[in-house]
Amino acid sequence: MVLLVRLREALRVAESDPELVRSQLQAFGRQIPLLYFILLVNTMAVAATHLTSAPAWLSVYFPAALGALCIVRCLHWWRARHRPLTLESAPAQLRKLVWLAGLFGVAFSTWSLLLFPYGTPYEQSQVAFYMATTLVGCVFCLMHLRAAALLLLSIVILSFATFLVLTGYPVFIAMAIDMTLVGVALAFIIHLYYRTFSGVVHAQRELEASQLKTQRLSDDNFRLASIDVLTDLPNRRSFFASLRALSEQALGAGGGFNVGLIDLDGFKQVNDIYGHASGDLVLQEVGLRLLRLAEPGIFFARLGGDEFGVLAQHKMANETLVDLGQRICHALSEPYRVAGNVAELSGTIGWAAFPEAGTTVTQVFERADAALYVGKESRRGTPVIFSTEHETRIRRSSLVTQELRHADLEAELYLEFQPIADVLSQRTIGLEALGRWQNPRLGAVKPEEFIRIAERTELILRITEVLLHKALAEAARWPEELYLSFNLSAIDICTSARARRLIEIVQASGVPPHRVSFEITETAVTRDFEQARCSLTMIKKAGCRVSLDDFGTGYSSLSYVHRLPFDTIKIDRSFMTDVDTNSASKKIVKSVLDLCLNLGLECVVEGLETASQAEVVKALGARAVQGYLFSRPMRASAIAAYLQAALEPAYEVAAQP
Ligand code: C2E
Ligand code: MG
Ligand code: MG
Repeated sequence: MVLLVRLREALRVAESDPELVRSQLQAFGRQIPLLYFILLVNTMAVAATHLTSAPAWLSVYFPAALGALCIVRCLHWWRARHRPLTLESAPAQLRKLVWLAGLFGVAFSTWSLLLFPYGTPYEQSQVAFYMATTLVGCVFCLMHLRAAALLLLSIVILSFATFLVLTGYPVFIAMAIDMTLVGVALAFIIHLYYRTFSGVVHAQRELEASQLKTQRLSDDNFRLASIDVLTDLPNRRSFFASLRALSEQALGAGGGFNVGLIDLDGFKQVNDIYGHASGDLVLQEVGLRLLRLAEPGIFFARLGGDEFGVLAQHKMANETLVDLGQRICHALSEPYRVAGNVAELSGTIGWAAFPEAGTTVTQVFERADAALYVGKESRRGTPVIFSTEHETRIRRSSLVTQELRHADLEAELYLEFQPIADVLSQRTIGLEALGRWQNPRLGAVKPEEFIRIAERTELILRITEVLLHKALAEAARWPEELYLSFNLSAIDICTSARARRLIEIVQASGVPPHRVSFEITETAVTRDFEQARCSLTMIKKAGCRVSLDDFGTGYSSLSYVHRLPFDTIKIDRSFMTDVDTNSASKKIVKSVLDLCLNLGLECVVEGLETASQAEVVKALGARAVQGYLFSRPMRASAIAAYLQAALEPAYEVAAQP
């Protein structure tokens, strides 16, 4: 009973495991030609020896029909041998094969049993031998299809052994017993083989699954190592890998490509005002906007912070680059919605072409950076293509850096002073100290140039100290009611220790701190807002004043002014150029003046050049003014004479129409 149950189980097709079934069929496919070869050769041999003893339908037609069946099946296999076997169709195909094996077993057994009575005992033994050898051969060929092999074995053994026993001849009975025992042994071998086979298939499947898992993990690792998690854009590492690959390709096969560097203007302010979470949202939005502009051959990457990169795989004409750059800048300048507010940002791009701008990855990147630098300095929110003019700038910049490093700062640096006047009282109220550098080799270097370079190299710390000493020494000689306004750089307030050092210099100078006002630009404040606030508070506590210089040129918002301890706001001179003709400029100046009035801050209007401008700002409510109209910056030695002259009504000119 148990045996029967087991047999039934073994005859079943493993429907639940289609992969195993497919492997069975694939392994069996390789044995099919052998199987039909055994069947055909053995059948022909038996048919041939019975040609004379058996009737034609048994010795010719029946075996011919069986042979034809074998050939048809063989051809069928040949035609379908390259057809992919799907998991869905495998169980049905195996079931079909099991039925076919049963059918073949019945057909061949019937033929040989019908043939058995004809011929001599030799020929009868040949039939028995034929059945035994053919059975063993076929069962081995069907080894992978356990169900088919066992079905065939059962049909042949049961039919033949019964038949042989029924003949009553001891030799045939012995043969029947022998056949049955060998059949059982064969069944056992098939069972063991099948177990091993399915075990191997399972092990292989597990191996494949674990390989797949490892591959997935390694893909994930690769993704994490090359993708920026915040924006989902390729990261800096991936950008440089592509840059290297493109440069190798261009050097090998000729051609070239373009590298673009994008820097966001105003991002820091978003971070400071709305917090880092909002900053992250803005960066994600930037990533999305850039992705929308990606097209075949154009890749974007996030290089870190608010810096992004573009690779244009195929060299583009300058007009196309400018056009792409403008589209990028335009997309980045659309308003961003963060934390219920709307933030305004812009992006500047520097482009450099390989190999024209540089023949190494580092060079071309640096050139793109140089173009970006130029863009940020003078053409924010626009694309700039690296040119030889920028090259000259870079050379000049490194020359100035070198000279500045080796300069005798005490001897070469000096100051000019520009008066700050009160339009109502028409008196000078203070003087702004402006640094000057006269170098033996370079001649006079503009403050914008050397200050910017000094800021990059941290030489500014030494420069500030030298100039502050000199400025205070001069201020000590001025009438007591005049204050000194002194420009600071971002680095001067980037640590509390630096701020303390400035205070110490003021205290040691003998000039009362209330007569000293430190000017700081908004861009300097936004570098590190918290530290700036801390340093400025220290300076204020020491009794000095602090002014926000060049207000209106950056991204300052009212919240900045409000959150930092400023005493004075200096409206940038760029608003003065058309204040008397342009109502928008006039409105801006008016609103800043009103803001200062409301917040109790002093306001200095910078850059007044004409009487008409002075008239307009005076009418808008300005009191403190500065500009060429009153005086250009002058040497310290000229101050006394200037102040003397100013005691006479020198500012009448400002009141003239
Ligand atoms: P700033 O602090 O805004 O200084 C005012 C600049 O505007 C000065 O240029 C001054 O000469 C110029 N200016 C004044 N009135 C007029 C006017 O009516 N029309 C025009 N077109 N310009 C006028 P300068 O001396 O070339 O300085 C440029 C900038 O360099 C300064 O801008 C300041 O940011 C920086 N700087 C100058 N000296 C120092 C310094 O000692 N330390 C630091 N950190 N920066 C300095
Ligand atoms: Mg200034
Ligand atoms: Mg200024």
